[in-house]
Amino acid sequence: MEHILSKAVGIDLGTTNSAVAVMNRADTDIVLHKETRHTATTPSCLWKDPRSGDLVVGRMAARRAGTAPEPIRSVKRLMGRRTTVRVTDEDMSPEQVSSKILAEMKRQIETDVAAWDSDGASWVVDRAIVTVPAYFDYPAIEATRQAGELAGLEVLDLLHEPTAAACYHCWSTKTTDGTFLVYDLGGGTFDVSVVKCTAGAFEVLGISGNTMLGGDNIDIEMAGRIQEYLIEDGYAFDLDVAGDADDRIRFAQLRLLAEGVKQALSTQDGFMFRDAGTVRDKDGTPVIIDRFVEREEFEAVARPLLTQTLGYCHEAIAVATKEAGITLSEVDQVILAGGSTHIPLVRELVTQELCGPTGARCAAPIYDKVDTIVALGAAVRASATGGLVSQDRGRTVRISFRGTGATGTTRTRVAGKVEALTDGIDLTGGHIRLNTGTYDDEADLGSGGTFAFTRVPIQSGAESLLSFEVFDGAGTPVISTARPVSHSDDLGPDGGDAPGKLPKPFLLEVSRAGKPVRKELLPALTPLPTSARFSFQHPGDTEKVLFPLYQRRRRIQVIEVPVPSTTVRGTEITFFVRVDGRAMITVQGSIGSVEFDARVVDPPERDIPAQAEIDELTARFRDGVQFLKAGDRAVAEEKWDFFLERLEAAVVRGDRVQAVHDFEELEVVVDDLPATEDVLEPPKTEFDELVANCRELNVIVHQVTEGLAIQHDQHDVAKSISAQADHGERAYRNRDQRAYAEAIAQLDAVRHYLAGLYHRSGRGDDTRTESQRTAAYVREVAQSATEVMRLAESRRRKDFQREISEIQRALATLERDADRDPVMVRTRVGQHSQRLRQIRNVLTPKSGDGYAALLPEELV
Ligand code: ADP
Ligand code: MG
Repeated sequence: MEHILSKAVGIDLGTTNSAVAVMNRADTDIVLHKETRHTATTPSCLWKDPRSGDLVVGRMAARRAGTAPEPIRSVKRLMGRRTTVRVTDEDMSPEQVSSKILAEMKRQIETDVAAWDSDGASWVVDRAIVTVPAYFDYPAIEATRQAGELAGLEVLDLLHEPTAAACYHCWSTKTTDGTFLVYDLGGGTFDVSVVKCTAGAFEVLGISGNTMLGGDNIDIEMAGRIQEYLIEDGYAFDLDVAGDADDRIRFAQLRLLAEGVKQALSTQDGFMFRDAGTVRDKDGTPVIIDRFVEREEFEAVARPLLTQTLGYCHEAIAVATKEAGITLSEVDQVILAGGSTHIPLVRELVTQELCGPTGARCAAPIYDKVDTIVALGAAVRASATGGLVSQDRGRTVRISFRGTGATGTTRTRVAGKVEALTDGIDLTGGHIRLNTGTYDDEADLGSGGTFAFTRVPIQSGAESLLSFEVFDGAGTPVISTARPVSHSDDLGPDGGDAPGKLPKPFLLEVSRAGKPVRKELLPALTPLPTSARFSFQHPGDTEKVLFPLYQRRRRIQVIEVPVPSTTVRGTEITFFVRVDGRAMITVQGSIGSVEFDARVVDPPERDIPAQAEIDELTARFRDGVQFLKAGDRAVAEEKWDFFLERLEAAVVRGDRVQAVHDFEELEVVVDDLPATEDVLEPPKTEFDELVANCRELNVIVHQVTEGLAIQHDQHDVAKSISAQADHGERAYRNRDQRAYAEAIAQLDAVRHYLAGLYHRSGRGDDTRTESQRTAAYVREVAQSATEVMRLAESRRRKDFQREISEIQRALATLERDADRDPVMVRTRVGQHSQRLRQIRNVLTPKSGDGYAALLPEELV
């Protein structure tokens, strides 16, 4: 009987390049599809021929770069965004474009599996494991699944690219245990993961990365460099990439040249960069390039971008440390993946930063098959997950064998399931017969058509063919097929299950006292599937309550909870947000005993951020960053500058996707700053103490000045204390450090004023004039400025040093004004004193210097 066989394939759907592989029939080796003798990858590029209307995928499409109409590249960057791209004369969604690429990968690997066809059996490709960056968020993952389905592939699973890379490494080295850091720098994305493999099962412990960082960015920088050369050489190359279509094409041509230079410099220390006529300048003059480019020059261009990646590596390790107590010194291997790791500087930086005595347990990263390692690993996983499926030609019955056909024992287990695909066949009471040539066995079909043979003897160290025949309840044969299996003594892991995890936390936006606040619903790295419960009280006056759902900063979905009009305001409504193993979200809930399904809708796309939004975010960043420790502050500032610069460039180019992405990155930087609430200086207890002290002192002063010729309006002062106390309270609630500090400075001045009155009453032994006392106050603060300065110097805080020396200069001037306007001077000095205290607190967290210490001793 003839049958159709299928094994699941592994596809690396890359931003720049895609690759496809499948394990051979007996799961002993991986078959990687090669388009040409030297290339196993296919550019993820789509072009539509304007004349014939044909869609072209891959290398032929990539060759069209720098001509009009431009081919579509890097569409993966748009996955999950509700946008379209112009393919010559047609608008296509990112998932449609990706589906064309996946269909091409399917076609390619079909040519390889066709070689396995024999008389009775023909091989097809209909199931796949597709890889996605670990940093992909929910909409992007979902779009990838859809793309696979549009391409006619059943997507068995979406595997994280770094897990795939680790999977290949374990398979090829026959390792079953280890902790790996996978550093994957491709054309468009950077991914880093800490992956742990225990007894062949993988677990992702920490992830980080950036979906907008890769070799493309290096090409753009390098193209800018080439543009500079050309301008130096007198060519008209002042391009308006945002506004002028011809200039855009000119720049695209420069990018191609830049990529060539980059790749040449991966294997050579210097490159004779020659080109004649590829590009014409704005005046139409053909450009002639003849220039020697040294690797150092390229490295100077690439270094800032590449250095960025190291921060993410430490971030991933920090997550792994927090999640599983894994530190860098416990990482066994650093595995490189992605075409950009061919750049020698990448390997140098990674070795320096992550390997050796202070780093992972390896002297250098593993640099092996970096272009295809992800597809190879996906193939290993596909064979473990997808098993082997056999159908008869008429597609009436299907047998699915579970797992890999490779085994380390000479007696193996073969299990699976038989299903009828048409109504005409009834498998109830049926059975399955097995024959190995030397051994026969029979098993009944269980419920759902399941079967299992245990301890099937197979040939040692070789490939064997197991034949199966299935019979229905009446004993009529319905299908027969064969499964190749293989035995090898030292088998590595079979790419067993890596539980899926949520790459970024899910947050639900809820309204609290009229203000939207985000509440964490599911933390990052929650194993999937999972669900979270949320309850709220019906706010009334609506039949639909909306809850925006965020994945970190990105609004990914809006949950629409339907509320029947009969529901009484205040009724408790509960819903569950379920996230399945493939990150698919569904929401179900109940109002009392009535259950409902909530709608989950896509939110509108964000626009290019307006300058005002950028300014506001910048102000928040500046406010928050000053409270970080010096080292953390430098890291945050570097990250901020990097994304801000890119954001500004993207805004100029009118590149919405990049701009929104970078803006969201900046929002994450701001979100990651410690909550201003916790860092408002000084702590709230000190503020409360100051208020209490002022009030107390006001009463005391009233008592001791009674009947003396000292003007003290207790009522007036009490009012002003209350007013400042209110200001301070409000500022504290609004996390407004500036207003909070202002209120404290005012209260400080009041306290000084009262302390002065107290002394004048004769209770203190202070016989100085007001200006003398003020001058003394200035000196006292100047003294503390000197101390804080020493502290700042010892901490090497140049920024604070500068600020303190400005304060010192101001204090010197104020001391001279103490005679003329003591009140003004005291207020100003109070402000400086407050700022100094704040700086001191930043430099020595938890310094116990409270306001009480400044009160006249007998009052404390
Ligand atoms: P992706 O995972 O984004 O699809 P790849 O892993 O295929 O990308 O990497 C593509 C990137 O690798 C491109 O930016 C390409 O220029 C770069 N690349 C490929 N080969 C080399 C090389 N020899 N030297 C430097 N960069 C290279
Ligand atoms: Mg890749």
